[in-house]
Amino acid sequence: MKVFKLKRGRRHTKYGYRKKDLKPYQIDYFDKHKLVRKHVMRDKRYTQILLRIIEYEHLFKDHLKLYYNNYTHRVSSYDEIMEDSKMFDWKCCICECELKCEIANFEINNFLCETCSHSYGNPETSVDSRILESSVKFRQYCQMILLDNQKKFTRFIRFFKRGKSSKKAPYQEVNNQSK
Ligand SMILES: [Zn+2]
Repeated sequence: MKVFKLKRGRRHTKYGYRKKDLKPYQIDYFDKHKLVRKHVMRDKRYTQILLRIIEYEHLFKDHLKLYYNNYTHRVSSYDEIMEDSKMFDWKCCICECELKCEIANFEINNFLCETCSHSYGNPETSVDSRILESSVKFRQYCQMILLDNQKKFTRFIRFFKRGKSSKKAPYQEVNNQSK
């Protein structure tokens, strides 16, 4: 990103730079930080670096925040929530204990608990038929959930396209169905 310094007092400039080269959040930053502004007016290289830092901070600000994680009911980072969103409740195909399986992961150990993976999780030996069966069922289960989510999403899109005049919000329809 290049910024061009112009003579002071010219139109469409902000702190000596072309306004169209600056993003609104970068202008906001200069507006708020008086100490920085003094150097920005003088030093072009300093400004380039500073603008880049502000840009990165802006791009990754959502990743730096903490959120309520609906999967674990704890406060977690953005990345943790993204990781948890890939996990589905499933059962170990050998001992049937509760398990979290990763979507789109069809490796043997994804369908086995820690204890069972010691005796059944070796991919070099022949794979137990229960593991194959579980992986097929898990694939179908994931497809069903994804299709369901897709339907809900299109319902939301239609609702917002129709505008405020429509009677029911899609989540109300979903709630009524579950009763
Ligand atoms: Zn097990």
